[in-house]
Amino acid sequence: MKRVAILGSTGSIGRSCLEVIEQQRERFQVQYLSANGNVERLLDQARKFRPKAVAVLKESDIAGHSGEFNKIGVELLAGFDGLLEISRRDDMDIVVNALVGAVGLLPTLNALKPHRRIALANKETLVIGGQFVMARAKELGAEIIPIDSEHSALLQCLAGENAESIAAVILTASGGPFRKRAIEEFAKVTPEQALNHPNWNMGKKITIDSATLMNKGLEVIEAHWLFNLETSKIKVVIHPQSIIHSMVEFRDGSIKAQLGLPDMRLPIQYALTYPDRLPATFPRLDFCKLKELTFEAPDFEKFRCLKLSYEALESGGAAPAVLNAANEEAVHLFLNRKIGFQQIPQLVENALSECRFNGLHDVEQLLEYDHWSREFVRSKLI
Ligand code: MG
Repeated sequence: MKRVAILGSTGSIGRSCLEVIEQQRERFQVQYLSANGNVERLLDQARKFRPKAVAVLKESDIAGHSGEFNKIGVELLAGFDGLLEISRRDDMDIVVNALVGAVGLLPTLNALKPHRRIALANKETLVIGGQFVMARAKELGAEIIPIDSEHSALLQCLAGENAESIAAVILTASGGPFRKRAIEEFAKVTPEQALNHPNWNMGKKITIDSATLMNKGLEVIEAHWLFNLETSKIKVVIHPQSIIHSMVEFRDGSIKAQLGLPDMRLPIQYALTYPDRLPATFPRLDFCKLKELTFEAPDFEKFRCLKLSYEALESGGAAPAVLNAANEEAVHLFLNRKIGFQQIPQLVENALSECRFNGLHDVEQLLEYDHWSREFVRSKLI
């Protein structure tokens, strides 16, 4: 029986994770859950899975609910401190980090312990803190297993292979809802249009990132840290059907791909059971019903966020943290109709060019860069 904590259990990944666990209840026991502010849903989950404790990030959302958790014998922790406390506890084997944004970094660092597995859906953990997180995981003997479908695909393609054999990894991207739209029309894009993803049903932040291709850019950086790959070995191809989840090209020219329907339950289950595979009842790919699998090169001029991500990875240090924080703020402003869609890459680019980079020695400094970048983006609106 593996004891599992799910940080961010009421979001899209967290709920899919609980669906997977529900099918495998003899193998997994839910030990801790955390939510941002959806206390009602968290309470339903707590009633069903009976964790030891739960944490709610937004303390103001707890009001009036603490008695209900008390009634079912579930400890309730509040605020970011509560989340940090859960992530620090010892009595768990797998920590699923399904938090959204840079807020996921410190809980990951806390959760790294010997023999512990971090099933990572929070890509920002590696985008901003990759060097610290990977070094600490290695030092402690903790595992980081990706949930992100592209990186899960790479992990599956790399099973049984040597690192020296890798010529390149090829991350697939759906291209989002604006793949065919002219860049001149980007100014008119509304949040509703950007939230209408053709293949995947996900949370708001990642859906906007998919429309700008920033999501793929963050995944390029994530792949760099997870698989220890230099930038030139990480490629992106647009594949609108989202059936091939990513590929590895080997030095002899052979390419392995991992395929499946766009359903996060598969990479989640694989991250929980890796290197084993367990039976699953999710819908399956039927090749006879597939019309076509198509590919095209990404348009780096139209989707500047992807280009900026490559540049930030090449710059190294705190550049990816500044890129990520500026993007988080810009996406928030776009969703609140304060800026236009095309201003997202503009603000990210300005933050990167105006930041005074001055080395990077510890996580504290990383968080200062993150803070500076958010303030920078906000200040541009006044
Ligand atoms: Mg992904």
